[in-house]
Amino acid sequence: MSQREWIEKDFYKDLGVSSDASQEDIKKAYRKLARDLHPDANPGDAAAEERFKSVSEANAVLSDPAKRKEYDETRRMFASGGYGGGFQPSGGGFSGGSTTFDLGDLFGGGGAGDGGLGDLFGGLFNRGATPGGGANRSRPRRGGDIETETTLDFRDAVQGVTVPLRLTSPAPCTTCHGSGAEPGTSPRVCPQCNGSGIVSRNQGAFGFSEPCDECRGSGSIIDSPCRDCRGSGVQERTRTITVRVPPGIKDGSRIRLAGQGEAGLRGAPSGDLFVVVHVRPDRVFGRDGDNLTLVLPVSYGELVLGSTVSVPTLDGRVGLKIPAGTADGRVLRVRGRGVPKRGGGAGDLLVTVKVAIPQKLDEQATEALRDYLRAEEAGGFDPREGWAGA
Ligand code: ZN
Repeated sequence: MSQREWIEKDFYKDLGVSSDASQEDIKKAYRKLARDLHPDANPGDAAAEERFKSVSEANAVLSDPAKRKEYDETRRMFASGGYGGGFQPSGGGFSGGSTTFDLGDLFGGGGAGDGGLGDLFGGLFNRGATPGGGANRSRPRRGGDIETETTLDFRDAVQGVTVPLRLTSPAPCTTCHGSGAEPGTSPRVCPQCNGSGIVSRNQGAFGFSEPCDECRGSGSIIDSPCRDCRGSGVQERTRTITVRVPPGIKDGSRIRLAGQGEAGLRGAPSGDLFVVVHVRPDRVFGRDGDNLTLVLPVSYGELVLGSTVSVPTLDGRVGLKIPAGTADGRVLRVRGRGVPKRGGGAGDLLVTVKVAIPQKLDEQATEALRDYLRAEEAGGFDPREGWAGA
């Protein structure tokens, strides 16, 4: 895989781990995803297959500490805001051409900036679309993504719930509102790059763009940095976020909250927050896709003679009719009492009947049962008729 692909691909995001995750965390995340997304488990699901490929690709790099290091360094080199301008052919010969450049080759040794996974290609296209670049405001580096987790009760997960999440992460500085400049002052446009954060340099047939060293690629200069955040515009803060979990969420799902991640430096856009949802098992209900499942204890007599039994659903109890002659283990369906579906409706409640055998019978019941067995035999019923060649 080329360096260019490395720059375009966010392997950490593919595995749902932070960029400082331990090797052990990476291994765990990969195992879980590989299991969930494996083609055998998702026959005919092209999206899952695609994800499975990305996950495998990400793991191949991140699981190898040496490769991971190389990947990190490559990305660090290009992720700094200053390289957002990328490169462009200059002079007559190349305009309008479709020559492909390998960023790795062009910039291999020139890394600057201090980490973070910027929106490199977004920045490139953004700038490219605005001719005469000088007046462009630089796009500072987007904040990092955060991942956190929460555990829900089974019923909340099925019906949907709103949960408060407390998390501590870099947030916009309250003193300077993220600008990084002392209140009452404001950053000024960098005179060297006119705010673009990049300067052009000619070398042979190509015009290179590289981060402006005056403003370190940010496009602006802060003369009096904010004292509380020392000019970064960011400070660690604990905040509470309300997360609305949609009905029917499955154990292990990830919810993305755009813009709720780490604040970007000097007012740059925030990263995203990913919430991994775990679901506690329920004492009564289980789940099979959009259906809820439940095992209903019944007596032999109820199955033979038929009966109407009260069963719990997520909203109240319903009477379930057991037809006469129902076999033990049969699944009865209560329509529409399952998991709410996206776009309306709900799955079903699947009730498996299971005979409960009394462990102790009083004399009267024992006598009656003996009488019953005799009558059953006299009536010609043989439970093992046709069984095992009998
Ligand atoms: Zn500040």
